[in-house]
Amino acid sequence: MSEAAQAFQMTIDGKAVASDQGFGVIDPSTGRVFAQAPECSRAQLDAAMESSAAAFPLWRRDEAKRRQVLRDCAAALRARATELGRILTQEQGKPLAKAVGEFYGAAVWFDLTAGLEIPVEVVQDDAAKRVEVRRRPFGVVGAITPWNFPIILAVWKIAPALLAGNTVVIKPSPFTPLSTLALGEALRDVLPPGVLNVVSGGDALGAWITGHPAVRKISFTGSVETGKKVAAAAAPDLKRITLELGGNDPAIVLPDVEPARIAERLFWGAFENSGQVCSAIKRVYVHEDRYEALLSELAQRARAVKMGGGLEAGVQLGPINNRPQFERVCGLVEDAVKAGARVAAGGAPAGREGYFFQPTILGDVAEGVRIVDEEQFGPALPVLTYRDVEDAVERANATMFGLSGSVWSGDTGRATEIAARLECGTAWVNQHLDILPTAPFGGAKWSGIGVENGRWGLLGFTETQTIDIAKG
Ligand code: NAD
Repeated sequence: MSEAAQAFQMTIDGKAVASDQGFGVIDPSTGRVFAQAPECSRAQLDAAMESSAAAFPLWRRDEAKRRQVLRDCAAALRARATELGRILTQEQGKPLAKAVGEFYGAAVWFDLTAGLEIPVEVVQDDAAKRVEVRRRPFGVVGAITPWNFPIILAVWKIAPALLAGNTVVIKPSPFTPLSTLALGEALRDVLPPGVLNVVSGGDALGAWITGHPAVRKISFTGSVETGKKVAAAAAPDLKRITLELGGNDPAIVLPDVEPARIAERLFWGAFENSGQVCSAIKRVYVHEDRYEALLSELAQRARAVKMGGGLEAGVQLGPINNRPQFERVCGLVEDAVKAGARVAAGGAPAGREGYFFQPTILGDVAEGVRIVDEEQFGPALPVLTYRDVEDAVERANATMFGLSGSVWSGDTGRATEIAARLECGTAWVNQHLDILPTAPFGGAKWSGIGVENGRWGLLGFTETQTIDIAKG
């Protein structure tokens, strides 16, 4: 069945639910609408919330069952990864292998989460009393996701929220609703009704979720701007929040580095998913002795990379996901060139239908230019120079973003010490973007509140309960 003919439906209370209203979903490789998604009404959202609230008391009771169900979710996604990956490619733009890989990655996350321990800590156990610190779930979690990695980012929320005993109502981005709706369909018979509700709609639906009285915890991934609105919406009801927001990651390249040795890793640290990664390298600081050599290595790679529609064979980079983002990247590059940046590669739209922008490397650019100071979130990378590493660290930290960063050197000990001085949630050495299911991921400063992944991410879907038992 073609995607156009396929009916994408929401999942509410374990059932497929259509809507009177729909909205078009655009294939970014053509710029044309290829499918419709249901626009969730207020009454339908209320029904989803009611069903999640009703499912909660039973769902939270049996931890062993939850673990088994999460493993079943992993198996269900694995069985359909190829088919579902195609939908993700069509709406998001990424190469098919990456989209299929995202579903396999989601399965891995379900499996690994199923094995995490929900700790019970004993802080006192003597003749007088036993004091345990347990972890209890919140109830209904409202989950809101962006358009760059719709599936893996959804599962970073769904899997730990469910293991902890919560139930979930999730809303994907209106630019990429279909793969998450398909995820809901794939898990419909695996999860008890109400445990996972999937609704789709525009930004207003996100605001309804954050303001909904049934929601006790909001887990949000998206931009800093929206993250602040989510925090404000949560405040009157004191809903708990986890915010995973934007980044402007620096990579600092020390003078002992051989540019040809690191250029490939550095390039992909910036251009993975066409630069639409929250924690992609968004500015590179290179010691002046290595500057020209590294600029040229990066430019060579930018020119050689195969860009195209995600369903075309051998494609490494897809289009930018949506028109507003495409226009933003065009504007940032134009602005940088006007400010005197040297275009070492790319520099313009690719001149074909869809939202393709040539992989772009910009030299002779510095702070004060928008593409350095703001999050570009696209395939355009500014490369800056420095003389003194202290100055590079200071400039890397001189921002309200603090998601991640990296330091590149042959001396890993020295690089590690410098990395530890970066004001960010994850600091890599001689790599960038290796996000693990076992380690916490989150941002400092405006890049977020709280973390996801590993046992730290799981604990974010719980609150402590002290049980204090008098003896004798
Ligand atoms: P966005 O903030 O525009 O939208 C994210 C989600 O929020 C969408 O589902 C949207 O419909 C919803 N939304 C919009 N207004 C809302 C409101 N008032 N209340 C509630 N929900 C609302 O972000 P985007 O453009 O979809 O995604 C790109 C951004 O996400 C980038 O800044 C990127 O760095 C960030 N991001 C962060 C992480 C991370 O883990 N830190 C991961 C991926 C992306």
